[in-house]
Amino acid sequence: MAKPAETRTAGRKPVTKATRSVAETEKIRAALVARRDELRAEYDQTLSEITELQRDRLTDSAGDDQADTGTKTFEREQEISLANSIRERITQVERALERLDEGGYGWCERCGDPIPVERLAAFPSATLCVKCKQLAERR
Ligand SMILES: [Zn+2]
Repeated sequence: MAKPAETRTAGRKPVTKATRSVAETEKIRAALVARRDELRAEYDQTLSEITELQRDRLTDSAGDDQADTGTKTFEREQEISLANSIRERITQVERALERLDEGGYGWCERCGDPIPVERLAAFPSATLCVKCKQLAERR
């Protein structure tokens, strides 16, 4: 009558989530924090470039013709949209960190498998494991 302690589930995986080890969670956290810091540095860099472009525009615009002004405006707009997309990525990583604390981060939305730490480090906003992602792309 006593069931074996380890029941192997053939085929389909159980819906109940497995748990990650503390060490693994910490590894994910470290990767996310490193990514956030990296993005913040990139963001600061972009902001100072915007400030510089802005200053250039104000200081040496006297001799500029229409084309120069246009190019500078374009450059500045490019930098601003870059800054915005970095800002967006920082928010994603911050949300990921919050969800990690709640235990809701790093699981494949499709099959429920844990998403490998390496994948999460490279793509903090990943919600599918590589296998499911490939399946989704093939459709
Ligand atoms: Zn999956």
